[in-house]
Amino acid sequence: MLRSFLMLSLLLSTQARAQNSDVPEARHVVLFLVDDLGWQDTSVPHHTEKTPLNERYRTPHAERLAREGLLLRHGYASSPVCTPTRTAIHSGQSPARSHITYWTLYADRDQTTPWARKDASSLVAPAWDVNGLDQSDPTLARLFSDAGFRTVHAGKAHLGAIGSSGADPLNLGFDVNIAGHGPGGPGSYYGQHDFRANGRRGKPGKSVWDVPGLEAYHQKDVYLTEAIVEETCGAVRQAAKDDKRLFLSFAPYAVHAPIMPNKKYLEHYPDLDPKEAAYATMVETVDHALGALLSTLEDEGMLKDTLFVYTSDNGGLSAHGRGGERHVHNAPLRSGKGSAYEGGVRVPWIVRWPGVVAKGTTSDVPVISHDLYPSLLAAAGVSVPKDHVLDGVDLTPFWQGGDLDREHPLLWHMPHFWGVHGPGIQPYSALRQGSLKLLFFQGDGRIELYDVLQDPGETQDLAPERPADARRLAQLLAAELLRRKAQAPRVKGGGQPLGVMAALNEMQR
Ligand code: CA
Repeated sequence: MLRSFLMLSLLLSTQARAQNSDVPEARHVVLFLVDDLGWQDTSVPHHTEKTPLNERYRTPHAERLAREGLLLRHGYASSPVCTPTRTAIHSGQSPARSHITYWTLYADRDQTTPWARKDASSLVAPAWDVNGLDQSDPTLARLFSDAGFRTVHAGKAHLGAIGSSGADPLNLGFDVNIAGHGPGGPGSYYGQHDFRANGRRGKPGKSVWDVPGLEAYHQKDVYLTEAIVEETCGAVRQAAKDDKRLFLSFAPYAVHAPIMPNKKYLEHYPDLDPKEAAYATMVETVDHALGALLSTLEDEGMLKDTLFVYTSDNGGLSAHGRGGERHVHNAPLRSGKGSAYEGGVRVPWIVRWPGVVAKGTTSDVPVISHDLYPSLLAAAGVSVPKDHVLDGVDLTPFWQGGDLDREHPLLWHMPHFWGVHGPGIQPYSALRQGSLKLLFFQGDGRIELYDVLQDPGETQDLAPERPADARRLAQLLAAELLRRKAQAPRVKGGGQPLGVMAALNEMQR
């Protein structure tokens, strides 16, 4: 049934392209999704001016992408933590709709439960989808694979829980899986440790965090990101040799914790706090991987026909585990990974598509991770199954220089405690329309309103002085949550928590 439906989709896709024949079809599609890469973690500025953090990091290949493509300064992740953004990219559905609202690890087990007890709030997480994506889902890779592409996943998957079908990328439509599995972090970045967590601690034995595959690199002086990109370049060359169209999901485990230096680059950061120097080498190593991938695509004659998207799955880590002052590693944005504020969700976004996307351009039009699903498929002439409900919109007309007509506002929904404390790291829902962003913190019923174009650091809460805007956006937030059938958090011991409109009435009384 699904198969025949996909055949029909293929026919429809050919017709769709015929109506738009002046736009070249991307022969290959590469999604370069860095883990936890913050908005400021590149040498190419995503802010209106170059910042000290841009001066710190060395990412010449990301700079090249920006010179040759479109840099989106208001690019967002679908969630401030890993799994929900990743599953949103691969399904086209926002976490509010998919109910995959938090990170996954083991099948049928909620990772929020043990940590939530530490919080004073009376809320607990709803009965969310703790298993993530499933083999029956019409994933990006499934649709590309059915359209004849060679589908390759490399690096961190974190799309489904251990013990569920979605833990293995091969069950989600990928033909090739390089080092991806259920867990969302690597045991170690070092080949000398066999990429094992216990290896990092100088002990024998296995753990769930050990990176699978890559045995050829065990006991060698190689950094995990380097091993993954070496294998990936081999898969790219094989696709070229086999004359296959390529869909590559390249997702290095970096720059996620554990923060471990790639020692060969440490000399570039002599004045930094040791932890921050280690982090900077991780960023630099990812950029080298980007360079290696671009070179390989170029050598194989594929790059000129490739849509290449560079982004991150959430904001930069800042609440723990980093050097120096906390909550400022994404400055001028506020807070970081796990937070409702911009530092948690605003991320690098660069699109390179030769002959379609104008070179060296920037835009302040907001986009979000789950827009990638319809966009990557449309760019390659592959249709979305008609019965698959999407929250993402097709960005290709916008990438070609047109306007972006978005019927519904950007929405975030994370009814969970992340476990680490910091500004905006609370269960929340938020939306952005135009330059305004409304935040609703579910625990204490707090509502805040910011103009994130004028005030990217979210320093000036406009809710008290613009009550009409606060009311309009709160109504819209309530409607969007309802439309997507979002799950509200639960109150310990039973009962319903305060909704956004009740909270607003309370506030404006
Ligand atoms: Ca992440």
